[in-house]
Amino acid sequence: MGITLNKCFIYLPPSEKYVPFKFRSNDVYAIPMLKEAFDNVKDQMGPCGIACGTCDLGNGTVAESALKLQEYLKNYGIASWAPAVPGGSDVDFERLDEALSWVQTYTRCFGCQQGGGPPDCAIRICSKDKGYELCSECPDLDGCENFDWLQKPDFFKDNLRKSKGKSKNEIIDKAISKMKN
Ligand code: SF4
Ligand code: SF4
Repeated sequence: MGITLNKCFIYLPPSEKYVPFKFRSNDVYAIPMLKEAFDNVKDQMGPCGIACGTCDLGNGTVAESALKLQEYLKNYGIASWAPAVPGGSDVDFERLDEALSWVQTYTRCFGCQQGGGPPDCAIRICSKDKGYELCSECPDLDGCENFDWLQKPDFFKDNLRKSKGKSKNEIIDKAISKMKN
């Protein structure tokens, strides 16, 4: 099994084949579990303009990465030889394993249309109250402070402005095809 700088090779029993897998959303079809998560959210978009299939929480990349790391740690017996290298005896591998199981269970997002995402998201609540499917329909988008809690509010607002007039499905298709290229 080989690991290169930007790609890992994942062992998929029982085919005994190593499948190249980048730890990005681009290769969501490389692993069945990721495909399942992706298929579940691929037609969804929050009113903020986030296409759920492009989000690494929605498409399962984060959870899948935790599972794979758990497998690597186990298959390479890392806990058994870690104490022989600097700092290795300070690592609590049992706690790490617990943390990775938690990540697999709780970082999967079903998209806010299916009850995922923060329940108190001001964008979701406000757009629903005003009857907008997407915030691009709202005349108050430019000065809206409900986006402030996102890491890059202007990025999302710009995307919404650019997609004005397009249907939700068109925007989703474009976002997904960009992700695959
Ligand atoms: S919960 Fe809020 S930020 Fe998340 S996708 Fe829905 S509208 Fe966007
Ligand atoms: S004010 Fe308009 S842009 Fe802001 S969250 Fe509400 S609907 Fe979206």
